[in-house]
Amino acid sequence: MEHPVQRYEVPRSVDEAVAVLAGGNTTVLASGTDLMPQSQAGRVTFGHVLVNINRIDEMKGIALEDGAIRLGALTTVTDFMNDDLIRNHLPALVEVGDHFASSQIRNAATIGGNVMNASPAGDTLIAFLIYDAEIELASKPDGKLESRRVALKDFFAGPGRTHAKAGELLTAVHVPVPPEPHFARFYKFGVRPALDISAISIGVAGVPENNRLRDVRVALGAVAPTPIRAAKTERAIEGRPLDEAAIEDIANIARDEISPIDDIRATAWYRLELVHNVMKRMLSDAS
Ligand SMILES: Cc1cc2nc3c(=O)[nH]c(=O)nc-3n(C[C@H](O)[C@H](O)[C@H](O)COP(=O)(O)OP(=O)(O)OC[C@H]3O[C@@H](n4cnc5c(N)ncnc54)[C@H](O)[C@@H]3O)c2cc1C
Repeated sequence: MEHPVQRYEVPRSVDEAVAVLAGGNTTVLASGTDLMPQSQAGRVTFGHVLVNINRIDEMKGIALEDGAIRLGALTTVTDFMNDDLIRNHLPALVEVGDHFASSQIRNAATIGGNVMNASPAGDTLIAFLIYDAEIELASKPDGKLESRRVALKDFFAGPGRTHAKAGELLTAVHVPVPPEPHFARFYKFGVRPALDISAISIGVAGVPENNRLRDVRVALGAVAPTPIRAAKTERAIEGRPLDEAAIEDIANIARDEISPIDDIRATAWYRLELVHNVMKRMLSDAS
């Protein structure tokens, strides 16, 4: 059978890349740690044009820009773990890196690939959700370069599906610099301690004040068709003194807010118990 890929493009700029994507029937290749296993498993069919975006320098690097940290979409997990801006301001993202795959995969896996793969268990997504990240998308629909920003919480449509339009390239993730002091934690539970996809993951963030959290954000992974913000749990935490009774009550609310499924990584019952217990542990840390 003829291989579907008939052309291989290696653009050097976003402008060049989106011009190729505008032609349609394309597949974007970043580092291929999702794309290649998925294609070998028959879950992805390549378009006629394979577009390797790895040589686009403007999609690399981490910098402060207008009060936010801009991470180029080609930032790898290793890149952000070693970056001072990230280590100083976004500790929950560093915790994600600590629990992400193996060093070989961390050296290759990009944040753009993690977002566009749209897995309910994608780990960077949980940290980006609690930091209220926006993503930047570029395209060239009418021969003119266009860029738009979308809140990450509104970007996912289902497992492996996003609200990106045809021909759009994810170019960066923008994270507002959190106020100081700030509490943010990420916790992932898998069956093995390393190299495992999350059975559940939880992120909690907020501004600490007299044993309370304000401006609370809670994100949950692998408990719904997409990574989610847990609005009821956020409201239950907001401004409430975090004593033992409150923590138990909030953990029950978190468990009642979700309807996970059984799959090969965990049963629904186990996921509910994990969310309850891990939420208690994280709020005890916060208090
Ligand atoms: C052994 C192993 C362990 C893993 N462990 C983890 C883990 O612990 N946690 C976790 O979250 N993930 C894990 N993964 C999944 C994977 O490594 C990540 O999702 C990774 O971030 C994907 O990035 P990539 O650069 O390899 O993307 P690719 O595989 O190149 O691309 C993924 C998808 O996104 C699209 N795409 C990529 N970049 C862009 C862009 N800029 N714009 C538009 N579309 C784009 C591609 O077309 C493709 O559909 C693991 C994978 C393996 C093989």
